[in-house]
Amino acid sequence: MKKVFIAVIALVLLVAPMACQAGILNGTGSKKSIVVTYSILGSIVQELVGNEANVIVSIPNGLDPHEWEPSAKDIEAINKADLVIQNGLGLEGGMQKTLATAQSQGVKFFTASDYITVRHVGLGEGIPSGDPDQAIGAADPHLWMDPLAMKSIVSSLAIELNKDFNLNVSSQAIDLENRLDSLDKEIANMVAVIPVSDRKLVTGHESMGYFAQRYNFKLTGVIVPSLSSEADVSAADLASLKQVIIDSQVKAVFTEIGTSPNVAKAIGDETGVKVIELTTHALPADGSYFTFMRDIASVITDGLK
Ligand SMILES: [Zn+2]
Repeated sequence: MKKVFIAVIALVLLVAPMACQAGILNGTGSKKSIVVTYSILGSIVQELVGNEANVIVSIPNGLDPHEWEPSAKDIEAINKADLVIQNGLGLEGGMQKTLATAQSQGVKFFTASDYITVRHVGLGEGIPSGDPDQAIGAADPHLWMDPLAMKSIVSSLAIELNKDFNLNVSSQAIDLENRLDSLDKEIANMVAVIPVSDRKLVTGHESMGYFAQRYNFKLTGVIVPSLSSEADVSAADLASLKQVIIDSQVKAVFTEIGTSPNVAKAIGDETGVKVIELTTHALPADGSYFTFMRDIASVITDGLK
């Protein structure tokens, strides 16, 4: 019995460092654990790392990233992660404290918004209320709405993974970058059927800024006057939004996560404008960022045509 026990211990001592080393060198064995805060960014990270690391997404797909709060189990996964990939710019409203604590305790972080040109709320974006979150100059967290911003994140993350974990994903990165370039061209071609004078977006909250910037749309108005879905809507905000819709001859209103169906219906009834649901914060059934963006471009194109 004792002999067997010693033999097992010896085997463990022999195998464990080998497995460890293999994991560092080629990603097999003890894989690195990468926590990504939300599903859309998670999908891109998963495509980049493939089987080279374990990707865990914190916020379940379909739940509102602006509001979601982590459970004790989610917090544990974050604290134990080899790398946490967050969006930044306040997107993960309900995770802020957990993320800040993990970072201060030495967990390694990659903040996606550090690697893009951040868009700021501009004049004339049709946001009438005084919410400080959406004041002129506030940073817009919805960076995933621009495939070329995602491309820039992929390039930077591939470099970081190589540097920090000796994880070489350069061939996946090149493939992903090429596909994101193609996606950008595809979306530009899809929206080309809408005359520039009709490219006016009224959405649930101000989530389409990066898309608008990339594809030459104007942010004409929002139902919830904020960069986040969490803010309240006042009667005065709604009245001025209805006026904007009528004055600007907007063709459709797009509702999304956090938009009250009753408020959307009332706007549609009172202005005579179509109300169309747009999925802006969740992946489609196939889990692909590429399908997600094609769906958005297609719903917008059909709605404004
Ligand atoms: Zn949002």
